[in-house]
Order: sequence, then C-alpha cells, then structure tokens
Amino acid sequence: MHRATKIVATIGPASSTPDVLLKMIHAGLDVVRLNFSHGTADDHRQRAENVRACARQAGREVAIMADLQGPKIRVGKFENGKTLLEPGQPFILDAECELGNDERVGLDYKDLPRDLKPGDVLLLNDGLIVLDVSRVIGSEIHTTVKIGGELSNNKGINRQGGGLTAPALTAKDMEDIRTAMSIGVDFVAVSFPKNATDMEMARQLANIAGAPFGIKPKMIAKIERAEAIPALQEILDSSDGIMVARGDLAVEVGNAAVPALQKRMIRMARESNKLVITATQMMESMIYAPVPTRAEVSDVANAVLDGTDAVMLSAESAAGKYPVQTIEAMAAICLEAEKSEQSELDKDFLDRTFTRIDQSIAMGALFTAYHLGAKAIVALTESGSTALWMSRHWTHVPIFALTPREGSERAMSLYRNVTPLHLDTSSDRDTALQQAIEVVVSKGYASRGDMVVLTVGEPMGQPGGTNTLKIVRVGDVL
Ligand code: PGA
Ligand code: MN
Repeated sequence: MHRATKIVATIGPASSTPDVLLKMIHAGLDVVRLNFSHGTADDHRQRAENVRACARQAGREVAIMADLQGPKIRVGKFENGKTLLEPGQPFILDAECELGNDERVGLDYKDLPRDLKPGDVLLLNDGLIVLDVSRVIGSEIHTTVKIGGELSNNKGINRQGGGLTAPALTAKDMEDIRTAMSIGVDFVAVSFPKNATDMEMARQLANIAGAPFGIKPKMIAKIERAEAIPALQEILDSSDGIMVARGDLAVEVGNAAVPALQKRMIRMARESNKLVITATQMMESMIYAPVPTRAEVSDVANAVLDGTDAVMLSAESAAGKYPVQTIEAMAAICLEAEKSEQSELDKDFLDRTFTRIDQSIAMGALFTAYHLGAKAIVALTESGSTALWMSRHWTHVPIFALTPREGSERAMSLYRNVTPLHLDTSSDRDTALQQAIEVVVSKGYASRGDMVVLTVGEPMGQPGGTNTLKIVRVGDVL
C-alpha cells in the first residue's frame, strides 16, 4: 500500500540500537529527529551513523532532522532530583539558586525575573504545574502554587500569553548547529522563532557551518510561541517548512486554541509551497501501552485530513516501550485516513497563475495525471522543487521523484505523497526517462500498460530546469 503522509520519529534511549532502528524503518519511519535538548554531540553522531547504516540495509533513504533546544527556559536541578508542590504553598524560582529543594529552585535563563511582574502566570512541565507570580525581588520570583504536582530536574517554564525576551538562538544552539552539520543532517528545526529574522539568522549559521561539508539544510520553524502566530506568513516565507509544535504552543496560547491554529498553519504552509509537520502527543499513551486511544487515532487521522506532510513522534519513539508498534499503528491510521480524502484539484487553480516554466510544467503534469487517471507521476528532479509543487495539491496520484542527488532524495522523504528514488546520472533524456520508468516498475509501483506522466528538464542536471512533460504507457518505446 502506498502511504502519502510521512512519519517523523524522535530517537532516543528506546530506539538507538540498529536492531530497533531497522524495525522502525521497515514499519514506516521516514525522517529521524535528533532532539538536541537531550544527549551529547557524540550520542547524536552515533545515532546518525546507526540510522544511515540501517537505511542502507533497508535499501531506502531516511532523512535526519536536528531539532535545536532553543531558549527553552527551564528550572535547575533539585537536591533529591524533584519536589512535590501542593496547591496554595509558596515556591520561589531563584536565578541564583544552585541546587533546588522544597522551597526554591534555580533557573537556566538568568534574566527571567526581569521579564516578569506580579499577576503573571507560569506554566511548568508543559502546563501540568501552574504558578501565580506574586512578587519579583532581585533574582527571586515569588509564586503561589495554583496547580501542584511533582516537579523534577530541568522541566520547562512558559509564561501564559508568551512574551519572554530570550533570544531565539542560544550559544548552545550555535554549537549544536555546527555538530549537526558535521553529522550531515538534512533538516534543522529551530525552536521558538518569533519572526523571519530568527529563521534567516539560523539559516545563515547553518549554511556557513554546512559549507565545508557541502550541505545546505532545509530549515523548519517550530511554531510554539504566541508571537509566532501573527508572524506566521513571514516565518513561512523565510523557512522551508514549519512544525506545529503543540506542546509549547498549547501552553502559551491555551490548549483550546491549538486545533484551529493547526488547521490554519497547515493550510497556510501548503498555500505557500512549504512543508508542515504536526507534532507532540499524537500517540502519547503508546509510551506505555501497545495500542493508541480512540482520541489519538482521531488526532492523527485529522492531521492527515488537514493536509500535513508528516506526523511526528516524540517520547513515544524516543523513550517509550513500543517504538516499533507506535510507528506501525501510525502508518495504518494515515493509510486509512488518506482513503477518505477529497481531491478537487481544479479549484486550486482557479485564482492561481504560474510564471515560472518549471512550476508550470509541474502543475501541468499534476493536472494531466489527475484528469487522465494516470497511475503515477514520475518527476526527474535535481532540487526536488517539481515534486514539492506537485505535492502541495490534493490528488491520489502518487509522485515518484527520481534524483541523482542524495541530499534531494533524503529531503524529499518528508514531502507528502512523494516517494524519492535514486536515479543514476545520465546525460541523455530518453535514457534517463527509460531508467526512471524501470526503477518505478522494478519497485512494483507501476506495471506494463499503466499510464504515467513524466517531467524532466533538458539539458539535464540543472536545478530549476524542468521544461518537458511527457505522457507514456509503461512498456511503450519512448
Ligand atoms: P519540543 O517541541 O518537543 O522540542 O518541546 C515540540 C513542541 O513543543 O510541541
Ligand atoms: Mn517545544
């Protein structure tokens, strides 16, 4: 079965051995997320090497995404690793405290007291704990516990409504970008950007650090602070894609606002020819249980129906008991949801004009394949943009993107409805088209007599050079 929606899975202690990774890839893992909030540079390097080795063994490309920690504000560590907060009790967040106890705890962002005033509400540990700020005295933020619970080492802090001033890229992020580039990652996810400038800066740093390795990673903006919502269009314009980062976003804007925002973000991303990943708690109960809840099944299915490129796993695959089963379950939900998608391609074109040759060919191919009932679109592409444009519209025609460039091949593993495949370079068009069809047939995606729509650029080998559309039946001489 052909699954259009992609699966991003965070790897961690539960999923770093070649044995588990290989099973995850066979179960449908498309993009691995390395979470730079945890682990050392060596951990990430070792994991990336394992991913590459397993992908080779499985015979397909798996992309790697480095997710930077960003200015996530966290409490420090406790003497006993944790404390239990009771509603009504006083509790102090103290920028100068070294080791926390039952009365106070330290802060990794020393300027936090300057950003706060009495009446502010702080949400800790993804909103599970709520503190009301009563006074700020020097380095100390005095609070009263509103909703209590267990607070352990390094849990995150958000202010309700957003508005904390921490810069988007920390010194650690800059160091991590260098590590990520030396590992050769395909995507960099930037945490807590609030505008286009944050994304442009991150891209510049990544391009500089990636230059010695010949890498220009795709940049993903994690939409997870209140300020990013009004700046969404400029953030999209300066990024290759966004992540609907529902964990922190829900804490900042209130969780009830998130489902509608998710729909808006997915729609805007697609209309802007950008990628979109839907993330956080999608299969949360599968951290401990071998089957998802009904609500989780609906959540994943709804993200698919909204049009997301990918659904993402965090702790489920990084630290859960059932990383492989979670991917299997997610893949099955995506497949089933995709069956009920309605495609109305013509409507998409009503008020659109295309001025670029390559984009016009891409749209022509999509339109033709859709109306002729072709079995497949086969795009010979260098940069992957033909495949990206075509994948921004709903149709049930699978897109096979063949490229001689490994980097493009891996990046396209995130694109909805696109199956990236390797093509040996060839200088003449007809040989390349013939090879492309052979690859698609040998993988079982099309058979003799099937109609396929082909796109290619001539001369070949030039990014942005797609200028030819050809309709053939498999088996006919080209
Ligand atoms: P995180 O980002 O898991 O790195 O916090 C995702 C989110 O906030 O939803
Ligand atoms: Mn987050």
